[in-house]
Formats: sequence, C-alpha cells, structure tokens
Amino acid sequence: MHSPLFEQIYAECSKLEQYLEEARQFCDLGKVADYIPELTHANCSMIGLSLLDTNNKNIQLGEYSIPFTLQSISKVLTLILALMDHGEDVVFEYVGMEPTGDVYNSMLKLELVPPGKPFNPLINAGAIVITSLIKGDTPALKYERISNFVKELCGRTNISYNEKVYASEKLTADRNRSLAYFLKDVGVLKGNVDEHLDVYFKQCAIEVTCHDLSRIGMLLANQGVDPITKKEIFPARYAQIASTFMVTCGMYNESGEFAIQVGFPAKSGVSGGIIGFVPHQFGIGVIGPALNDKGNSIGGLHLLKQISKQFKLSIF
Ligand code: GLN
Repeated sequence: MHSPLFEQIYAECSKLEQYLEEARQFCDLGKVADYIPELTHANCSMIGLSLLDTNNKNIQLGEYSIPFTLQSISKVLTLILALMDHGEDVVFEYVGMEPTGDVYNSMLKLELVPPGKPFNPLINAGAIVITSLIKGDTPALKYERISNFVKELCGRTNISYNEKVYASEKLTADRNRSLAYFLKDVGVLKGNVDEHLDVYFKQCAIEVTCHDLSRIGMLLANQGVDPITKKEIFPARYAQIASTFMVTCGMYNESGEFAIQVGFPAKSGVSGGIIGFVPHQFGIGVIGPALNDKGNSIGGLHLLKQISKQFKLSIF
C-alpha cells in the first residue's frame, strides 16, 4: 500500500535531521532510569529514529542501530499473545480496559477498587497478570513463546534478552514483587509468583533496535498483516485492542498530553524506547534513554511532537 504521508516525510528528510538534533539538546534535562541499576549505563545523549512503511521503505537517523531493552514496550506484545492464546473474553476477566492516571508501578487502585483487578494491561500489575496467562507448561516454555513471537514481529531470529539487565531488575524488583504478591493474595494472579516475575523480567530485557520497533509499529499500522509476505501475524481485532490501549494508556500518566501533542498510538519503556505508528501508513521506533519525570524519553517526546506537528500525523 502506498503511504502518501511517508513519501512526504521521505522527501523532507532533512527536517527530521534537524528535529533529531534539537531533541538531543533536551536529553540533558532528563535522567536515565536508575531503579534498574544496569540501565544507568545507557548513553544519556543518544537519540535514534526509524520509520518503516508498508512497502518496506525505511528512514533511519541518529543512533538508530544501538540495541536497548524493550521494558514496558513488551507489554503490548504479550497482550497480543495472551489474546491469541485465550481470546478477549478470558483476558478481560483478568485485566480491565481503563487508564489509571497513576504511575505505571502504582499499587494504589489495586487496593482501592475491589476485587483488585489491574485497571489495564499496560501498567505493571496488569502486565504481570498478562504474562502469567501466556500458554506454556513451564516458565521456560512461556518465555520461549514470547521470544518466538518477538522474533516473528521483528522479522529476525537473532533476538535475545540482555542477561545483565534481566539480573539487575530481578535483584531490585521489590515493587513489582509486592504488586504480584498482592495480586496473588486477591486471587487475580494464579500459580507461582516468582516464576511469573522471572518471565516478566526476561520479556522486559529483550533487546531490540529502533528498526525493530518501527517494524512492529508498521505491523500494528497494517492490522497485523506482514505487507510483504501477506501473512497474518496477529488478528486485526487484537491490533485494534492493542492500539486503543496504546492511545489511552501507552505513555503512562502522560497519555492524555501525548494524545493532544502527538496524537497517534504509542508505547514507551523505561529504557527510553518508544514505539508508535500512523494507522495504515508506517511504524515508528525511537530511542532516547534520558527520561522525564513520568518515565518517558524526554528527547523522544520532543522529536515525536515536532514530527507530528510538521507532518500533521495526529489521528484526531
Ligand atoms: N521492567 C520495568 C518494570 O517493570 C518496565 C517498566 C517500564 O518500562 N515502565 O518496572
């Protein structure tokens, strides 16, 4: 499918270079996530961008080839896999469909609103429950299925998780552990808490590049179908569900502002990655490890705001 917007951006690529360098200046105002100690080694002033359209046409700028960990971006992917495993009726017995307005690792509403079902699958509590639903008789098999799905989405097989980031999160994850034990106590999370968390930490530590994110974004933009092979990688209905959550909850408690300032489905992670897409047109991958106080890439946000404004990318 021809993407007129992408062609226009391609023709005016020098503007993107300019926005990228402007965005780099903002990185000094942010801070890398330090609650997972291993993430502090990231280069704070790095910023990279990849756009990929449904004709496999690509724009790549800045530090686009540096690998980074998926972190919360993985939550969108496991949501789709859980939907493929169980269907939406079952999945929504375990997680809700509403944004919280709270920080991503908050436990506030779990106790406040019985029966303690996480409000949505993109906050930590919801994502841990989603991971527990992934089919597989052992934690290793569950992780293998997630990993195989990510490989298929990225269109490459040499994908693995970063051992150091995984170990670092596992050692320091008291907050996630307490969320998970609370969920187990109220009966929302079934089975062995530590085993579920182990799979969750691994999925968060899977390493990707901006190009990978732009390819996954492009698949969401194309409703789950690989435009080159015509293979359905996930059903259009699940692309629709994931995209809607990305709009309402994808940028944590900054999702409303992002919808107004940028205006397309997106999801961020504390490593500084952002995945986004313009429906039916192209996917977007950004990395910028310096974060703002909401945990979103400060340079990445600036870059996406500028691009969206210039090329009128808002879907609203
Ligand atoms: N692994 C991280 C955590 O659970 C992911 C959070 C994020 O990217 N916001 O805390």
